[in-house]
Amino acid sequence: MTAHHRHRTCTLYVALLILASCLSGRRALAQEVDPPPLSRVRSDDPSIAALIERGLPHSPTLRRLVASVDASDGIVHVAPGVCPGGVAACLPNWMISSGGNRFMRIVIDRRRLGSDWRLLVAIGHELQHVLEVLDDRFVTDGRKMFFFYQQHAPTLQAQFETQAAIRAGLSIRKELHVWRRAVPTRP
Ligand SMILES: [Zn+2]
Repeated sequence: MTAHHRHRTCTLYVALLILASCLSGRRALAQEVDPPPLSRVRSDDPSIAALIERGLPHSPTLRRLVASVDASDGIVHVAPGVCPGGVAACLPNWMISSGGNRFMRIVIDRRRLGSDWRLLVAIGHELQHVLEVLDDRFVTDGRKMFFFYQQHAPTLQAQFETQAAIRAGLSIRKELHVWRRAVPTRP
């Protein structure tokens, strides 16, 4: 290769580098101006957050539930753990109100639920409970949550249930039917 060719190649390379840096700069600027909206349904466990993301395109019911929480003043953390009473998932009577947000926690027992689609069904069921609570703006702490459910879904036990949450879970189960067959169940 002659010096001339080398020079042209080098110039072209530098030009491409500048173009690439301009493009990436524009992309970075676009992200600064318009950051992707952070969902109000969150998890510190990356595998749970990724599972919700993967499930959303397959389940209109799950999408509706997450969109409803996103449009509310609630922020829900989905955490792995164990629920009282031997249930596989629960919405503990725990709420913190801070900065105009109401924080709640969904607990899912991954070992009991076993497969990804069962986890999503359980998360959707509990999200329906979250929306039931958020719908009452006077519920601002765990004690009021307890009295809310005692009033709206009384049972003889310390656990509460609503038909809407059962229906939400069943809908998600049905919507994930194809996905359930494609994704093998974990042992
Ligand atoms: Zn329930």
